[in-house]
Amino acid sequence: MSDLNDLLYKKNYTVQDIEKLLSLRNTEDVERLKNRANEILNSHIGDSVYYRGIVEFSNICALDCHYCGIRKSNKQVDRYSLDRETVVSSAKWCADQGYGSVVLQSGERRDPAFVDYVEDLIREIKKETRSEKLPEGVGITLSVGEQSLETYRRFFAAGAHRYLLRIETTNEELYQSLHPASQKLEERILCLDYLKEAGFQVGTGVMIGSPGQTTAMLARDILFFKEKDIDMIGMGPYLVHNQTPMASEGQMEKDELLQLSLNMIAVCRIVLKDVNIAATTALQAVVPDGRERGLSYGANVTMPNITPTEVRSSYKLYEGKPCMDEGRQECKSCLLGRVRSIGRDVAFDQWGDSKHYAARK
Ligand code: SAM
Repeated sequence: MSDLNDLLYKKNYTVQDIEKLLSLRNTEDVERLKNRANEILNSHIGDSVYYRGIVEFSNICALDCHYCGIRKSNKQVDRYSLDRETVVSSAKWCADQGYGSVVLQSGERRDPAFVDYVEDLIREIKKETRSEKLPEGVGITLSVGEQSLETYRRFFAAGAHRYLLRIETTNEELYQSLHPASQKLEERILCLDYLKEAGFQVGTGVMIGSPGQTTAMLARDILFFKEKDIDMIGMGPYLVHNQTPMASEGQMEKDELLQLSLNMIAVCRIVLKDVNIAATTALQAVVPDGRERGLSYGANVTMPNITPTEVRSSYKLYEGKPCMDEGRQECKSCLLGRVRSIGRDVAFDQWGDSKHYAARK
């Protein structure tokens, strides 16, 4: 492609430009895309990889997203909520290993008891993980869905400072086909605004390859991230869960799903430059070295799973979720080997905040 160079070095991107980049499949073109993403990674952020130990602390969910294995209507799931001691000790384990940050993720609930519980978890973790290396304790990213501005303010005041809320898609029609009528795209977008107002580093992302999604929709999603001045991106391939209403619609063929997901990472890096981008677990469900591949296309964050092994299989969002019976110690050494296998290294004992956030403050 003779004009590929122009495209890779443009200042402002249109939907059509982004579509072209996402559609690259020829080996040589893809290599150039990847190289450009790495060039930007190195010049804007550096090539260190940051860990966030993820604790999936509860699978109780009040929502019914049509794609998700832990949706409330799935009666075959054993529901759990970890007690405070277990969550705090998991965060302490992370701090002891030099993981500078944790992600606390759960199904979505807005009842007062849940909000109190999460607020209490944040305060305890901050208190219990202070050390010489981390004087303010581990960095905390929350991923507990749509909440009120007041709740987000409480979580921020308690000490969480990053928040992941995937928009899933910015296309109204597709959003509605993925969710019950009671769940609204505009409300999810409003929550991203609330999170920024509350002071969080704001992360969002989409499911890639969901039925009915087009490359043009994904291109518009990337421009949405830019317009919203998003600090962190966490996105991954859509994979079927057999006990969901969407199971019958099938999923994209794996090679295509993988390449599209990797191109999304590279293009986000090229368009958004200094944001944090995660190489998510779902990539590893597509191919065993999916996370390393995500890092090699411009991602700089990865999330070792530290959820206690006893409940891991009950937090199954999609089929083939990896590392279901591995302990956190095994995850630790396995992941470090994976990161080093691509010539990168992990920055231990650091929060690894989004450079984009620092620049927009
Ligand atoms: N409740 C919180 C929320 O809605 O943001 C966090 C938990 S939710 C399970 C985390 C993410 O899992 C969702 O944003 C969605 O993108 C992803 N997810 C759920 N089901 C999935 C599937 N079948 N394939 C890929 N990703 C899925």
